[in-house]
Amino acid sequence: MSAPASECLFCKIARKEIPSAIVYEDDTLLAFKDIFPQAPVHLLIIPKAHSEGLADLTPETAPAAARIPQLAAKLALDQGIQSGGWRLISNCGADGGQTVFHLHFHLLGGKPLGGKLCQ
Ligand code: 5GP
Ligand code: ZN
Repeated sequence: MSAPASECLFCKIARKEIPSAIVYEDDTLLAFKDIFPQAPVHLLIIPKAHSEGLADLTPETAPAAARIPQLAAKLALDQGIQSGGWRLISNCGADGGQTVFHLHFHLLGGKPLGGKLCQ
């Protein structure tokens, strides 16, 4: 069960109630550095509007989320990882490894990430 938007960690980050290292912001999307980076570049890209995850998008919230792959490609270029390669993933639900229940994509790169999608 997800927290209400008023209590949600990433909603608080989007509202700037909790500080984060923001690298990109527009009206509907925010990208900031993961607090526990798993790679030299590890950004989290979120729609500012709360959705629990990919399974919970609505006609209202889906358009912003659909822009995330294009933003990830721009940020990969900005962060200098385009030529080496990068990964964009969203963990869905407990078995998917999701721990923060506000839709987010991890943008990872800056080192060889390996071929395994799970261990
Ligand atoms: P998930 O496990 O849900 O796919 O990813 C959640 C991510 O949020 C984790 O990689 C975790 O390190 C990151 N995270 C958790 N709390 C914070 C925080 O307060 N600030 C930032 N910037 N990242 C966080
Ligand atoms: Zn939220």
